[in-house]
Amino acid sequence: MAKKKVIVSACLLGENCRYDGNAKISNEVIETYKDYEIIPFCPEAPIFGTPRERISVIEVNGDYRIITDDTNRDVTKLLEDEINFFINSNPEVDEIVLKSSSPSCGFGTTPILNQRREVLFYGDGIAAEIFKKKYKSTKIKDEKSV
Ligand code: SF4
Repeated sequence: MAKKKVIVSACLLGENCRYDGNAKISNEVIETYKDYEIIPFCPEAPIFGTPRERISVIEVNGDYRIITDDTNRDVTKLLEDEINFFINSNPEVDEIVLKSSSPSCGFGTTPILNQRREVLFYGDGIAAEIFKKKYKSTKIKDEKSV
């Protein structure tokens, strides 16, 4: 029988793909999904490399943009393209486990900032936002709810 498939944020699997060059391994996630086919996912590292400048979700005129913290570059489109490419390569999955608080992967836990970089509320990162639309019937959670 084919294994069930789960997308997991790659830093939770121990990949050193975070902005600071580190991982955020979750043994609980790895253990929980040991019988699944695990599909690692990290949209930031392939575009920006590791380590890299931090990025944030910023509200700009009612729209949510991904902007680099130091150089103030709008990288939303780059990330959208990377995430959509990943989805097209992995159209059918059973579950998704994303890293909390990340501007890309956070699921309801990402700080959404105004242009003065003050927290407006906590919401979704750009990947979680797109995943919700494209993987409509797939359960999404973060490592804290595994
Ligand atoms: S939270 Fe997402 S984008 Fe950030 S390092 Fe982990 S997998 Fe990559």
